[in-house]
Amino acid sequence: MRLDIITCCPQWFESPLRHFIFQKAIKQQYLSVCIHNLRDYTPYKHGKIDDHPYGGAAGMLLMAEPIANCIKALQKERVYDEVIYMAPDGLPLEQDLVNKCSLKQHLILLCGHYKGIDERIREHFITLEISIGDYVLSGGELPALVLADAMVRVIPGVISDASSALTDSFQDGLVAPPAYTRPYNFEGKKVPDVLCSGNHKAIQAWMQQETLARTKTRRPYLLATDDVNHAQ
Ligand code: SAH
Repeated sequence: MRLDIITCCPQWFESPLRHFIFQKAIKQQYLSVCIHNLRDYTPYKHGKIDDHPYGGAAGMLLMAEPIANCIKALQKERVYDEVIYMAPDGLPLEQDLVNKCSLKQHLILLCGHYKGIDERIREHFITLEISIGDYVLSGGELPALVLADAMVRVIPGVISDASSALTDSFQDGLVAPPAYTRPYNFEGKKVPDVLCSGNHKAIQAWMQQETLARTKTRRPYLLATDDVNHAQ
């Protein structure tokens, strides 16, 4: 997968891309990421990329030309599956959407800033808008990293044990069961006996029961919408 990220704050990406899952995925050539600084695409002097909104509203908006210039330059080089704008009012980012996006080869991720971007960019260039939740951040950089991390970890091969990412919460429409590691006895609290029993059938049954119980208390709406697979 190739990600082209358009931002006015390239420095936001420096550390995250050098660490953890990104570093591994890039090293193993599952992922390449190119960061594009909006200021390199502006036709205005002194790297100007923002201006006051028409109508007199407060704050500054990212102007259309630098964004359009950058997207057009990238689209000359290759065909993109989606041009994604990280937007608070976009499609909520959920596991299904993550999985779908992770199958794409070439994605542009556009990060807004200040009060956002000129509406005409959304109308003419953007094919998908994604929100990481109903709250407003100061820029699209963290949302882009959230989306990138979520996508990368489900690309087969990136996590060494392929089944690991697939047994996480939301992959099968439920939340994950509780998990324990050593020590067996932590401040008087012991690991449930069944997990130490070696009885795989019993362990599976326990996990399914815990998964359902947890989903019922934490995300009841998941059970309401998916009662065929999880009826028992
Ligand atoms: N004026 C806008 C908010 C702009 S916030 C509004 O009221 O909707 C500045 C930028 O941060 C946005 O352009 C977007 O790219 C990013 N952003 C902020 N919150 C976000 C969220 N919850 N999900 C995705 N992107 C977000």
